[in-house]
Amino acid sequence: MESFGATGRLTAAVEDAAMERVIVIGSGPAGLTAAIYAARANLRPLVLAGGMYGGQLMLTTEVENYPGFPSGVQGPELMTMFREQAERFGARILDVDATNVNFSKKPLVVETDDERYEALTVIVATGASARWLDVPGEELLRGRGVSTCATCDGAFFKEKHIVVAGGGDSAMEEALFLTRFGRRVTVVHRRDTLRASKIMAERAFANPKIDFMWNTVVERVLGDERVTGLRLRNMLDESLYDFDCDALFVAIGHTPNTAVFRGRLDLDRAGYILSPDGTTTSAEGVFVAGDVFDHRYRQAITAAGSGCKAAMDAEKHLEALEFASPPPVSERLSQH
Ligand code: NAP
Repeated sequence: MESFGATGRLTAAVEDAAMERVIVIGSGPAGLTAAIYAARANLRPLVLAGGMYGGQLMLTTEVENYPGFPSGVQGPELMTMFREQAERFGARILDVDATNVNFSKKPLVVETDDERYEALTVIVATGASARWLDVPGEELLRGRGVSTCATCDGAFFKEKHIVVAGGGDSAMEEALFLTRFGRRVTVVHRRDTLRASKIMAERAFANPKIDFMWNTVVERVLGDERVTGLRLRNMLDESLYDFDCDALFVAIGHTPNTAVFRGRLDLDRAGYILSPDGTTTSAEGVFVAGDVFDHRYRQAITAAGSGCKAAMDAEKHLEALEFASPPPVSERLSQH
């Protein structure tokens, strides 16, 4: 493994050899918080933000539980502030995807379609993406009545009948938001109890525009040019029937964005990155933050906190690299 001496030598290596000290992959709350901390530690992080920066909060409306915003804040507005804060301290943010990595030796390598970067540390904060039902008609009618983003597409369905599939907080949030547009919102859930938190469930139950279909799954999305209905299955008696509606919003959870790390980092069975201590990974110098490993909490605030931890540990790792390889005696003497 290549090693570096005192700070001066490390800095020289970084600048001369275009070696990055920290590359952050991802730009949700985890990635941008990591970038803020790394930038404030003078590490000039390079952030590969992805084709669409900001992560899942870009697809959210009101965020009411992020501390510091007593009246709430719009998700995209919050992420713009994260980005500006990171840039203010010297983070360089590129709106490109990492398409390949090699973490088997130092320097760590991260590639995009057009560039190849070498780095001493990498922070992976690629988050998780909304899941689809994978039923016939769903893909065909995406953008024509099928969506995973009420914020993006809800306004297209003014005075329409909208179905939301799922029983978690996301489904409740989507359903509540969609009542601003639709004349009726039906939540289709595969069990007879919600997974959603009590407060979200109560809000949905209290909304007169929302009704629930329990023990029911979507078997097929109906329509040619646009959604005209759904074929539903009642899980109790297995009966199939068609149900008229104008739109389907799928809100059934998320899949970690780890395709590029398969075979490069240890993942669990669901594809989340494994971390023994909440920041390190199976590759030395590669740290992890946010929903890409944390499938338990998955909150903006917990993702931001883990981004902070990952950046601090990356900084410690860089310091350890310097200590592991002190500069030659001649260089040390010349510093005094
Ligand atoms: P989630 O909690 O995993 O819920 C997913 C829901 O979709 C579950 O009800 C699940 O049914 C259902 N589901 C999964 N696969 C399905 C399939 N193939 N067909 C039909 N239904 C399916 O995911 P989430 O709602 O996205 O929430 C994720 C995390 O983010 C949670 O911790 C949540 O609290 C948090 N969150 C919070 C807020 C907020 O506080 N405002 C908003 C959004 C999300 P089962 O219940 O039967 O498993």
